[in-house]
Amino acid sequence: MTTSLGAAPAHDALTFIAKPTPQLRTTVVAQEALLPSTEFAALLSCIQSVFDKFTAKLMEFPPGVERATALHEMMDQEVGVVAALPLSCRMGCSGCCHYEVEITHDEAEVLCAIVQNGFPIDRHRLNEQAERERTDAAWGRLGSPANRCVFLGQAGACQTYQHRPAICRKHLVTSLPSLCTTPGGSVLPVHVIMAEILLSAATSLEGATLGSLPKMLRAALEES
Ligand code: SF4
Repeated sequence: MTTSLGAAPAHDALTFIAKPTPQLRTTVVAQEALLPSTEFAALLSCIQSVFDKFTAKLMEFPPGVERATALHEMMDQEVGVVAALPLSCRMGCSGCCHYEVEITHDEAEVLCAIVQNGFPIDRHRLNEQAERERTDAAWGRLGSPANRCVFLGQAGACQTYQHRPAICRKHLVTSLPSLCTTPGGSVLPVHVIMAEILLSAATSLEGATLGSLPKMLRAALEES
């Protein structure tokens, strides 16, 4: 579920977005190859318009918990358009909760507050995960207990579901859940371009940062 937003756009057409998600970049590159130039220009104009609208909406809220909550509500609304698809994501199929999830600084504040308010997490596991580099081979061990998100309950349910990060909300598949933890499994993700533009807007806000959940949460806990 890693998004790995780069510091600079990888595609010239997206220079109006400081940190587009990789999926947004991929979509734009694919559409550029498919569409006549006028239609591609119209698509870019549409993306910019939506990006500006999302940015303006997010800026109505102060950084931190309030802006994270607004982002989550907006993300649920955008992702809701695919609710009629045969999505296979269910409570208990938690393969995607064993990857290095990325969160915004605002979301780190939300999760930090939950822990400070008494939610018990495995601090040892959090520290071990926070010490890893993104390229650490440990993250590639699909379904490994050492990779479990510290908010994942024993029954495979997210224990902070209402406050889960935006990336968790938009990560949906239509393939068998078992494929999510099968090396080389043919996972069929569902991409919602509006969700990608929204996350790009959230991470492109001035002062916004995005990073691994373990690293961001540990840092927030240390600062608090
Ligand atoms: S926050 Fe919840 S949904 Fe997201 S990875 Fe952790 S357990 Fe899974």
